[in-house]
Amino acid sequence: MIEKNFSIRVIGCQMNVHDGDKLRGELLSRGWREADDENGADFVVFFTCSVRERAEQKAASEMGKFGKKWKKSRRPCLAFLGCMAARVGSAMARKFPWIAVTAGPAHIGLVPDAMDRALETGEKFIAGSGTDVAGSISCAPKSRGNPHKAYVTVANGCDQFCAYCIVPYVRGRFASRAPEDVIGEARALVRNGAAEITLLGQNVDAYGKDFDGGGRGRFASLLDGVSSIDGLRRVRFATSHPSDFTDDILDVMRDRPNICPSINLPVQAGSDRVLREMNRRYTKDEYVSLVRRIRAALPESSITTDLIVGFPGETEEDFEESVALFEELRFDLAHTAAYSPREGTPAASRADQVPPAERARRLVKLNGVQTEISRKINASMVGRTYEVLLDEPSPKGEGLLQGRTATDKVVLVRAPLEMAGAFRAARVIGSGPWCLEGELV
Ligand code: SF4
Repeated sequence: MIEKNFSIRVIGCQMNVHDGDKLRGELLSRGWREADDENGADFVVFFTCSVRERAEQKAASEMGKFGKKWKKSRRPCLAFLGCMAARVGSAMARKFPWIAVTAGPAHIGLVPDAMDRALETGEKFIAGSGTDVAGSISCAPKSRGNPHKAYVTVANGCDQFCAYCIVPYVRGRFASRAPEDVIGEARALVRNGAAEITLLGQNVDAYGKDFDGGGRGRFASLLDGVSSIDGLRRVRFATSHPSDFTDDILDVMRDRPNICPSINLPVQAGSDRVLREMNRRYTKDEYVSLVRRIRAALPESSITTDLIVGFPGETEEDFEESVALFEELRFDLAHTAAYSPREGTPAASRADQVPPAERARRLVKLNGVQTEISRKINASMVGRTYEVLLDEPSPKGEGLLQGRTATDKVVLVRAPLEMAGAFRAARVIGSGPWCLEGELV
């Protein structure tokens, strides 16, 4: 049997990280070995993202760099996976012949066989760009990048069709997994050492809407079931959609101390006109009211958001409403981005695009406002003690471990590597906008 080595690179969201873990586990169970670095790999697997043009350009440029080496030795071959592959897989495989396998998220189950065949017979595999699921990989990854944390997908795809978003076209329609499958997988992960589980979906709050007689409230009951698993220390979930987030989710969070009080609630714009044109299905006032209800129910919670500046037709007044919303709601953190037209979405063909320089200016201004808010919120935590799950070495320096509070704040502490995976109390002794410095107590 020939030795087969692979290496995985993930660009993009937690869904890709999770798919990467699943593929890694499947390949290892088939006798593949994970190479120490890409230089020793027969296959380099790219999980790519389509949400922004820049992420696609970066992936294309990184994949292009392998051409020189491949032309000399026919190694490594590339597997081009993820949302970008669903969009432009076959075109890229024609451009870069070193791409031997390409498949979007719906076809990832076909990839292990395709990689085997590519090495053994040289056969190429170009999956169609459809979103109907084909093939499968056992859902619980057999190996995880981080042994202390695990992801469990609760639903695939999305039915919201926000005007700027490519996800429904590349990940397909919304489809919830059966609750017993989700809970069973989470239970197996806990038995296997996971202390923290994150429930994943493009819109987790819509969980179960697609079941017969499906309606609101199914996610709350799933959350209740998962958080009841013996030995599970922390449960998180992402991503929430304001129009599907129901108050019974807050009731379960209040009752279950192991559900982390940390909610990512993308607002996307601060102006009702822009929200309407984005097809977000809520108004600014409804969003503000939801944030107030969350804070009333869970006073220690952290709330993060996502916001796009420069959506087509966004005026200076619309933009200033986004700034005002940030100042009013004081999010713990915000993932902001300049609008990036994605071909095939309704917003991309609009004639009233905001010029790129103006989008960039708005982004800088909004980020400046948010940075100061995050800095002040984090500074207010200095002197307090939090339980932190220490989980991996920090890239910020030798001897530092990185961990997270229940509210998902990053804390860096000086601690030995053997402590990774432990829950420890840490007193915050320093802060910046993006992370905290702590000492073990
Ligand atoms: S909710 Fe909107 S932004 Fe989020 S994945 Fe679905 S379509 Fe995209």
